[in-house]
Amino acid sequence: MDYNATTPVHPEVLEALLPFYREAFGNPSSIHWAGRNVKGALEEAREKVALLVGCDPAEVVFTSCGTEADNMAIKGVAAALRGNGNHIITTGVEHPAVLNTCLYLEHEGFEITRLDVDRHGMLDPERLEAAITERTILISVMHANNETGTIFPVGEIGEIAARRRVRFHCDAVQAVGRIPVDCRADTIHLLSLSGHKLYAPKGIGALVVRKGVKLHPLLHGGSQERNRRGGTENVAGIVALGTACELARRAMVEEAPRLRELRDRLETGIRERIPGVTLNGHPEQRLPNTANLSFSGTTADSLLMNLDLAGIAASSGAACSSGTLRHSHVLGAMGTEPVAAGGSIRFSLGRESAAADVEYLLDVLPGIVARLRGNK
Ligand SMILES: *Cc1c(COP(=O)(O)O)cnc(C)c1O
Repeated sequence: MDYNATTPVHPEVLEALLPFYREAFGNPSSIHWAGRNVKGALEEAREKVALLVGCDPAEVVFTSCGTEADNMAIKGVAAALRGNGNHIITTGVEHPAVLNTCLYLEHEGFEITRLDVDRHGMLDPERLEAAITERTILISVMHANNETGTIFPVGEIGEIAARRRVRFHCDAVQAVGRIPVDCRADTIHLLSLSGHKLYAPKGIGALVVRKGVKLHPLLHGGSQERNRRGGTENVAGIVALGTACELARRAMVEEAPRLRELRDRLETGIRERIPGVTLNGHPEQRLPNTANLSFSGTTADSLLMNLDLAGIAASSGAACSSGTLRHSHVLGAMGTEPVAAGGSIRFSLGRESAAADVEYLLDVLPGIVARLRGNK
C-alpha cells in the first residue's frame, strides 16, 4: 500500500526492455545498422510518452528521473530568463526535488514565493495570480500531491500563466498514468514525469519542454535529446517508459475507478472500525489511489512499525523523508499540528492491490491502533 513511493515493473514493460540489454545494444547516435534500430525504438517511445501527456514527441526530453526533470526545468528556466527577472512562484507542499531546487536558487539570488494551501491541501489560483510581479519568470506547481493526493487546478494555473506571460512548470510525477494529464489543454510549458511511479524501472524520467520555451541544459555534452541533455541515452529505460505510458493510457479508464472503489472501501472501513480518524487531503479533488489518514493518540512511526510487522507496507508521506521523524512539511502547510494530527499514514494503492488486501488491513489495523492508544 505504498505505490506513491514506487511501483513494481509491469511484466510487459520488462519484456519490452530486455532486448535492449541483449542483442539491441547499439548506440542510438551511431549511423550504422546497430544504432539505427535502437534510434527507431527511442523515437517510438517518445511518441508514446507524448500521447499520454498531450504534447509533441519532439517536446519530450528523457532524463534520469523525476528529480532531474524538476531540476532541469527550474534551473534551466532560471538560467535562460535571468535577464527578465529573478522571481519564482511555487507552493509549500512541493516534492523536495522542487523545494530544494528553489532553495538553492534562493541562495543564488532568486526570490522565491512559496504559496500556502488550505486545510484540504488545496491551492487558490487567485492568490497565485496575486503573487505574480514584473520580475516573475516561472511558476512551479505540482499536479497531484504525493503525500495527500490532492489535485491542483492546473488548468486554471496554466490559463493564468499564459495570460500573464509567465512560464509554467508542473511536477506531474504522481499524476501521469493515474489521471488525465494534458500539456496542450492546460497550457503547461514544462512537465516532469518519472518511470518508477508508473510501472517502469527506476532511473528513467522525462521533462516535456514545449516548443518555444527557452531552457539552459543541466548536462552539457553531446547533441543527444536535441542538445537539451548530453549523454548517451538510457535506451532500455526509455523503451520501458514508453511502454509503461502506452499501457497506462489504455488501462486508466478502468484502473482509476477500480482503485477509487478500493480506496473508498479502505477509507470508510477504517472510519467504521476506528474512532478518532481524520482525512488529510481534499475529499474529492484527490488521486483515486491515495488516502492519507491521521489516527489521534498514535504516532506515525509506531503505526508503520506495527503495520510492517503485519506485512503491510505504508508510509508516513514522502518516502524520501521517512526514517527521519520530522513532521511532514505537507501536513504542516495544511495547518495540521504535529500532536493534534497524531500518526498520519499514507495508503496508496496500485495495479496489484486487491479487495483482499484492503480487507486484511481492515482486520489488523483496529487492533494496532487500540493497542497503541492503550499504551499511552
Ligand atoms: C517521486 C517524486 C519525484 C521524484 O521522482 P524520482 O524519479 O524518484 O526522482 C518528484 N516529484 C514527485 C511529486 C514525486 O512523487
